[in-house]
Amino acid sequence: MINKGRVFSGARPTGRQHLGNYLGAVQNYVALQNDYDCIYSIVDLHALTTLETTLDLKQNTLEMALDWLAAGIDPERSIIFIQSHVPEVAELHTILSMVTPLGKLTELPTFKDKIREQPNNINYGLVGYPVLMTADIVLYKANVVPVGVDQAPHLEFAREIVRSFNFRYGTDVLIEPEMKVTKIPKVLGIDGQKKMSKSLNNHIELAATPEETQKRVMMMVTDPARKLRSDPGDPDVCNVYTMHEIFSKLEEVEMINRECRIAGIGCVDCKKIFAKNLNDHLAPFRERRAKFSQKPQEVLDILYEGGKRARKIAEGTMREVRNAVGFP
Ligand code: SF4
Repeated sequence: MINKGRVFSGARPTGRQHLGNYLGAVQNYVALQNDYDCIYSIVDLHALTTLETTLDLKQNTLEMALDWLAAGIDPERSIIFIQSHVPEVAELHTILSMVTPLGKLTELPTFKDKIREQPNNINYGLVGYPVLMTADIVLYKANVVPVGVDQAPHLEFAREIVRSFNFRYGTDVLIEPEMKVTKIPKVLGIDGQKKMSKSLNNHIELAATPEETQKRVMMMVTDPARKLRSDPGDPDVCNVYTMHEIFSKLEEVEMINRECRIAGIGCVDCKKIFAKNLNDHLAPFRERRAKFSQKPQEVLDILYEGGKRARKIAEGTMREVRNAVGFP
């Protein structure tokens, strides 16, 4: 294997992961381990920018770690840790904030979206979010960051902050991360309308039982024009069909594409096939998850150990950073 460098990625502790998280990020995290040194962080500090309460923070962190490990993130090969276990990130965030123009931060579309979403909680952390994200990446000297097309501007901004720091202090200690643009499928929820999301309750949890999964699949909205079993359908506008393309065998996908158009198959049968294929796909994941969840201390130990390994890298970077800044 040729090691292509170091990858960093983080995700907020949203608890149990759903199909959208899996197809959009976790599956990719697992695959990247074959070619890169990977560092995956559960970014709990970032979570504070939007959370109204932290009562579920610990549990959500653990649940997410369980899902990541069960999906195949391997703590022997990769570092998996909790962001707040490495306090150096807060120090680097402060230092980077001094080379980041405020006007640019407040003009970012994501900041404007947040203002709209939580008008009663426009906190400083929301403005500084991209700076903390940059600190996360450069603290571990990651040279590759996997991003979806819509996140590319954020990484470009992170690169600007790095350039700004290196220029200001006449150094090259911080590495400008490259983006690895990954084609991320837009996973719609069971409503067939909006992106899959827990807050919209249109999600299918990875850790749900086969019965619960089947129940959610049977609730999926299909081709809205197909009202009766005898109506021909259009798989091109049906979210169930999109899922078949991901989880079903090619022969089944072709059969559904053909039969749906001539009303040869009904939506109920079509969904049953998808539910079975999805449950088959998730069976090994669920088995591993059940084993991990019997030993929560082991999972916490993995996270603590990952934190120690991450901190070692962070301490080295911060020595260089403080030196470059000229702190006595
Ligand atoms: S038969 Fe399948 S692909 Fe066709 S509309 Fe129904 S659920 Fe969708």
